[in-house]
Amino acid sequence: MSDFDAARAQMVEKQLRERGIEDERVLEAMGAVPRENFVPERRRELAYADAALPIGSEQTISQPWIVAAILQALDLQGTERVLEIGTGSGYSTCLLGRLADHVISIERHSSLARGAAEHLRVCEAHNVELMVGDGSRGVPDRGPFDAIAVHAAAPAPPPALLAQLADGGRMVVPVAGPAGHEAEGETLTLLRRHGAELESTAITPCRFVPLIGAEGF
Ligand code: SAH
Repeated sequence: MSDFDAARAQMVEKQLRERGIEDERVLEAMGAVPRENFVPERRRELAYADAALPIGSEQTISQPWIVAAILQALDLQGTERVLEIGTGSGYSTCLLGRLADHVISIERHSSLARGAAEHLRVCEAHNVELMVGDGSRGVPDRGPFDAIAVHAAAPAPPPALLAQLADGGRMVVPVAGPAGHEAEGETLTLLRRHGAELESTAITPCRFVPLIGAEGF
C-alpha cells in the first residue's frame, strides 16, 4: 500500500464515515479515486488534508467532506444523467462518473478545463464530457438531468438549471446569504423536484468560490 493509498483510506474513515457520510457507494468511490492526481504537483503531500486546496486561476478543489456531502445528497444509483457546474480540477467529475451513467461538466476557465481533461484521461473516466463556458445557464438542449451539482456559490438556485432538472431529480447548490450578508458564507442546499414543486433542504453551512455568470454573480 502506498502512502497515498493509506492516506485515502484514512480520509474515508476519519473525515467522511465518522462525520456522517453513510452512502456506501460514495465512500467506495472516494476510497478509489486518487485525489493526489487532481491537485497541483507541489501540493500532492496535502492531497488528503481536511481542507480545500488551491488549483490555480484563484480556484480550489473542495474539501473532501464537502465533496462527499454533495455526492451523498444527489443520491445517485448509477443510472443518472448528471450535469456539473464548476469542473475545477476534475476530481468531483471523476467521482460523479463512477456514481452515475453519464456526466456533462462545465468550467468557465479554459486552463482549468484543460488540466481536468488530462486528469480525467489518466483516471480513465470515459463517461464524462467537458465543456468550457458559463454553466449557470446549463445545457438546455441536453437536459433534463436526473442530478445537477453546482460547485460555486450562487445568489439563488439558478432558474435555468432548475428548469433542466427532471421530475424526481436532485440539485445541490451552495446558496449565498442575502445581499449584504455574503461574507457570512453559504448554505449547501438540496432541491428535489416533484412535478412542478421543488422541495428545498439545507445540508450544511459552507464556503465556495462565486458562480460567475448570467445566473450567478
Ligand atoms: N469541483 C471542483 C471544484 C470546483 S471550484 C473540483 O473538484 O476540483 C468551482 C469552480 O467553478 C471553479 O473552477 C470556477 O472557475 C468554476 N465556475 C465558477 N462560475 C462558473 C460558471 N458560471 N460556469 C462554469 N464554471 C464556473
